[in-house]
Amino acid sequence: MTEPVYEMFWDCPYCGTKELLGLTQRFCPTCGAPQQADKRYFPPEDQKVAVADHRFVGTDLICQNCQGANSANASHCTSCGATIGDGDREVVKREDQPVRAPAPAATPTPAPAKKSKLWIWLLVAALLALMVLGGVAIFWKQEKAITVTGQSWQRSVAIEVLQTASESAWCDSVPSGGRVTGRSREQRSTRRVESGQTCSTRNVDNGDGTYRQEQTCTPTYREEPVLDDKCQYQIDRWAHQRDAVAQGQGVSPAPSWPAVQVTGCASLGCTRQGARSETYTLNVTVDGAGADTCTVPQARWQQITPNSRFKARVGVLTHHVDCSNLTPL
Ligand SMILES: [Zn+2]
Ligand SMILES: [Zn+2]
Repeated sequence: MTEPVYEMFWDCPYCGTKELLGLTQRFCPTCGAPQQADKRYFPPEDQKVAVADHRFVGTDLICQNCQGANSANASHCTSCGATIGDGDREVVKREDQPVRAPAPAATPTPAPAKKSKLWIWLLVAALLALMVLGGVAIFWKQEKAITVTGQSWQRSVAIEVLQTASESAWCDSVPSGGRVTGRSREQRSTRRVESGQTCSTRNVDNGDGTYRQEQTCTPTYREEPVLDDKCQYQIDRWAHQRDAVAQGQGVSPAPSWPAVQVTGCASLGCTRQGARSETYTLNVTVDGAGADTCTVPQARWQQITPNSRFKARVGVLTHHVDCSNLTPL
């Protein structure tokens, strides 16, 4: 099967005659000027001219003497008579974008698109400004003298209770110990399914004053839901019930953990100890500014005596005291 071949077009640069045929009109019929191969172009889709019984003999060669384009099987230049053959370079082939069928009327691009883009940029600018302000608030600090006016501590122990919880999961991943009470069909994921294909046509330069058309197709897909079984189940879990808290002022008496009573068993309603936490707080006043609190490790907290003075870094905007670096005054 031979695919149809069409004439490239060219415009005469000397007399301005337009839409001359690349294969059949090697000279301008108006002024006689030879065709220049680099002036060839693909005609619009609705003006293409088919070449009947075209036999491809090779890409055209450019005459070294007069730059005229000659068929690859020519022995002498049709413009100047010089020998054609070894050493003559081939015509540079045109590149083309996918061909569009002649559009009935171009749909005007909606203008609001530009406006919404502006809003996005404004939003980004506002977010950036907020981030800069936040950064300044956090990182802009000055060294100031502070006085420790008080010390306090707090220690807490979480108490957990074993109770029945209602949960749900995909039926293939219900944890061990889960008692399934119900099932339902739900969408778990999506699957890509081939739904057809989109094709486009491209002009391909043969290099001898003609071109052919090639079609490329790519598959299109649609998303399809994938269903699976969701299980409702009951399971016994340790859950946070309350916190037992002990707290005090000053370093003496020494901080201690709260007295905690738990059952220690492992059936429903039983209690056990959970995570522990402790904080050691300093009350401070900043010279020339207000009061603040900060937390320090217990070892540091214990060494500090009431009314001792330190140099510390203080937030210029927040007035928050950074107690991680206290230098005795
Ligand atoms: Zn001409
Ligand atoms: Zn020539």
